[in-house]
Amino acid sequence: MVTVNEIEVKGILTKTKIPAADYVINPYVGCPHKCIYCYAEFMKRFTNHHEPWGDFIDVKQCSRKINIERLKNATVNFSSVTDAYNPFEKKFKKTRELLEQFAGSEVKIEILTKSDLVIRDIDLFKKIPHIRIGISMNTLDDAIRKITEPRASSIKKRLDALKTLHEQKIKTWVFLSPIFPGITDFKAIIHACKPYTGAFYFENLNLRGAYRARVMKYIADYHAGLLPLYKEIYQRGDIGYWEEMEKEIHAFCKKNKLNYGSYFYHEKIRKK
Ligand code: SF4
Repeated sequence: MVTVNEIEVKGILTKTKIPAADYVINPYVGCPHKCIYCYAEFMKRFTNHHEPWGDFIDVKQCSRKINIERLKNATVNFSSVTDAYNPFEKKFKKTRELLEQFAGSEVKIEILTKSDLVIRDIDLFKKIPHIRIGISMNTLDDAIRKITEPRASSIKKRLDALKTLHEQKIKTWVFLSPIFPGITDFKAIIHACKPYTGAFYFENLNLRGAYRARVMKYIADYHAGLLPLYKEIYQRGDIGYWEEMEKEIHAFCKKNKLNYGSYFYHEKIRKK
């Protein structure tokens, strides 16, 4: 059960320090996808929500138009603390409304989603010259996805969406994030996605928020054999696993001539 509120906001554009973006647009507060590792849960503190993360969504109403001229050459990312194509986008169309303002503009738009609803807007993407759509996944196993990303689209739907976007000549990329030690098989994901994209980005699992206990419980319940590895990384702060994996990723991507980028270590693995 998700509580839905419509809220009035004065502006929709926020300056950001996240990699490879100048601004972010979050059309919603909260994210019903309810991923167990979601770092955006901190938004509860700022928005006075007491419901569990994933069980509320605020739909932003913003009457002020975006000053597109001011954003020339900037990169705008949809979204950083929600999924712009969460299931409520089907009804409220806030992401679509906001994207419409960028039609014909020079602004670089990056969208990252775990939802196949994204293909609804292909007609609009074709009117935005510098748009790239990222599909996020960290496993090909839908049984794992069902527990870790319970309300996001199935892996098959994400792969189908990636294929459709590619066939419709929309630029795509795949975000392998977060990489779960001992679980995420990055080569298998690349193999499955390679026919439909040439760009891959990687991010390791960080456990620095309230979700740390939730993720460790998931590992204990479903992958107990991996507990020593997780303790090594997240309790003792050993980053050797990630160093090895990063080397492997570099070697694999170079060998396969992939366009790739790594967002490892942008936070400390262990909260000191
Ligand atoms: S899709 Fe992204 S924002 Fe939404 S719950 Fe999952 S990790 Fe959080």
